[in-house]
Amino acid sequence: MSEGAAKKEERHKFQAIRGTRDLLPPETALWNHVEKTANEVFATFGFGAIRVPIFEPTELFARSIGLDTDVVSKEMYTFEDYEATELVELRTAAVTNVASLATGEALIDFLDRVGNFILAAEKAFEAGRIPRTPENERTLQMARELIAILQTFRYQGEREILPRVAELKDAVRQVRFGDVISLRPEATASVCRAYIEHGMRQLPQPVKLYYIGPMFRRERPQKGRYRQFYQIGAEVLGGSDAPAIDAEVIEMVMTFFDRLELHGVQLDINSIGCRECRPKYAQLLRAELLRVKDKLGPDSQRRIQTNPLRVLDSKLESEQGTIATLPRITDHLCEACATHYSAVKRQLEMRGVFFRENWRLVRGLDYYMRTTFEITAQGLGSQNAVCGGGRYDGLVELLGGPPTKGIGFAIGEDRLILSLQESGKAPAQPGRDVYIAWMGERAHATAIRAAKDLRKAGFSVELPPVEQKFGKALGQADKLGAKHALILWR
Ligand code: AMP
Repeated sequence: MSEGAAKKEERHKFQAIRGTRDLLPPETALWNHVEKTANEVFATFGFGAIRVPIFEPTELFARSIGLDTDVVSKEMYTFEDYEATELVELRTAAVTNVASLATGEALIDFLDRVGNFILAAEKAFEAGRIPRTPENERTLQMARELIAILQTFRYQGEREILPRVAELKDAVRQVRFGDVISLRPEATASVCRAYIEHGMRQLPQPVKLYYIGPMFRRERPQKGRYRQFYQIGAEVLGGSDAPAIDAEVIEMVMTFFDRLELHGVQLDINSIGCRECRPKYAQLLRAELLRVKDKLGPDSQRRIQTNPLRVLDSKLESEQGTIATLPRITDHLCEACATHYSAVKRQLEMRGVFFRENWRLVRGLDYYMRTTFEITAQGLGSQNAVCGGGRYDGLVELLGGPPTKGIGFAIGEDRLILSLQESGKAPAQPGRDVYIAWMGERAHATAIRAAKDLRKAGFSVELPPVEQKFGKALGQADKLGAKHALILWR
């Protein structure tokens, strides 16, 4: 390294990765307040806290959220988790930057390196250090056969062997060293996995769970949109889809927001039907959209085929007039869904929860059905959704569990905090109750005992680690906003 480069290296300052951030005092006091309130309010509704892992098999999210969603197709942080690190080097040596195979020796050398890798991979496979999946077994077998074929070739030039070499390289690249895992982009799938894994079907139903924690999505960062963000969410799982369950879950979020004195809260609800009626509506909508296709932008035009309901989500000014004329799902629900939806609305009214029906509310994730809802709050600009939720009967079954009904929501904690701050609700970091100014060794000993007793009684105490002149000590006490100063000397 040149001297200049070394200096530059030295000066290099680390910064939080784009889309992530540090949360610092005094702001963290507000985060604590919000989470404490969630713990208290949710407990009054009989919800218990669940903590699920930050990472899970990618497949869990792919299967539940849906392969066609942005979250799964492009926003997950995914990596292979493996312990057989020696295989990485052997694989790189075997197939990366392979020089031309223009001579027989070059081919033999290449086959040697690939052979080394396959041998090591087979050993790891036998020992269970790489996944003992049928795919891995097949891939290793195929690589072995291709090596054998290439070894028997009488070398007559590169052209003849290249297709086989390409196949062999592909096989080598396909050997899986470990499980493919992803940082969780949301937690509903994990909660459902846990419900199945721990046989929660045996518990009194419904099971009511809530969680608080970070989620990860590689989205374009902007105000209210981060790559590591926090959600507070809850799920109700069990045998019943009684409308009162939907209403109570919604009532709980609204109570929570009310307790936090969140401003400008607006609850939108909709029913997006079920497996019976939604496809029929989607077909009708698609036909209508095709009729007005020319009035829509390219994104919506594309969605006519892939996911027509998402067209309703469009915020494009030029499309709003056209969208207003489209058929509404609430007019096309099957009888069971229509009855369910009316009952949910009645139940909300009984609970004094104000809502607005929004026929254009469709949720981004695949697993939702029937009741869907979204809550917006003040001061968030275009990213004003602070909570999204809905019913997802069938998700547990999709993940290999028993037939189970489910409903839940996720609050974007970052946005919730932002909205509270915008409305000036931020409680200031509480100052110290007592500042103990001391001078002299004996006073220090007394100060330590006094601090211990005061802290035990619940007071916040600042005890300076080194002796200070009283003038300086009192100045410091003032800066920290201490309510009292205890002065000890000698
Ligand atoms: P979803 O899981 O997509 O239904 O999102 C639920 C809520 O999480 C949203 O209403 C937002 O408040 C919040 N949220 C989703 N994605 C992000 C993000 N990238 N940054 C901050 N908050 C987010």
